[in-house]
Amino acid sequence: MNFALVTGGSRGLGAAICKKLASQGLGIIVNFRSNGSAAQEVVDEISENGGYAELLQFDVSSEESVDRSLEQWEEQHPNDRITILVNNAGIREDNLMIFMQTQQWHNVINTTLDGFFYVTRRILKGMLTKRFGRIINIASLSGLKGLPGQANYSAAKAALIGATKALAQEVAARKVTVNAVAPGFIKSDMTKDLDEDSLKKLVPLGRFGEAEEVASLVAFLASDEASYITGETISINGGLY
Ligand code: NAP
Repeated sequence: MNFALVTGGSRGLGAAICKKLASQGLGIIVNFRSNGSAAQEVVDEISENGGYAELLQFDVSSEESVDRSLEQWEEQHPNDRITILVNNAGIREDNLMIFMQTQQWHNVINTTLDGFFYVTRRILKGMLTKRFGRIINIASLSGLKGLPGQANYSAAKAALIGATKALAQEVAARKVTVNAVAPGFIKSDMTKDLDEDSLKKLVPLGRFGEAEEVASLVAFLASDEASYITGETISINGGLY
């Protein structure tokens, strides 16, 4: 069976991406860090709708945790392969630079950027050997324009976009595509503390986006129809720049 691994698949955008890719016939590996019950709900919903999904707990920012979990998964699935990787796990720890704690800087960079590196390096080998793969990195509008209070987050997401462009060129000859998606304001746990009523006035389409709208874009990039798109960053932000 062909599988899609979605990091941070337990909630928000990741959960919607898991469900969308499952509806297209892929087996899903729902990764999570600590919220096992939310991840189990995603697996259950996929199963109830006739799909197939498995839980896989690991912390993307820990090289050891990533390697151990994925090695075990591969040992238990000798006839399966991961053809799609969605690097979605991410956190926000906003603060003005002048007040930013060292840990806030590192937590955000480690989750987004180290996480991308550890997981992608591990999965890439199989994709290159089989000469097929789709890697989709969830970046952010914040990584394109920079947002005050998010120097750590903007830096991590901008770096992720740079890595997307570099890796795309490294692996294109093996028919592995690498793209990024840059969402604006999307309803999820990550944005629930924001003042949606005032912020949505900044968005030309006049609302926050839905996780399912991001999932549809990711599913397109994961599909055969997107086979000539690589190294690209696609915004999904209701017209907000
Ligand atoms: P969310 O609702 O807070 O969910 C975050 C997910 O990431 C959870 O599944 C969480 O797992 C997982 N996660 C966090 N740290 C992890 C780690 N070290 N290892 C493994 N999993 C980890 O966030 P979201 O809004 O869906 O965001 C998803 C992605 O979209 C992030 O990369 C975010 O930066 C990006 N994004 C979001 C927005 C937005 O408006 N929502 C906009 C632009 C970009 P647990 O459940 O186990 O905690």
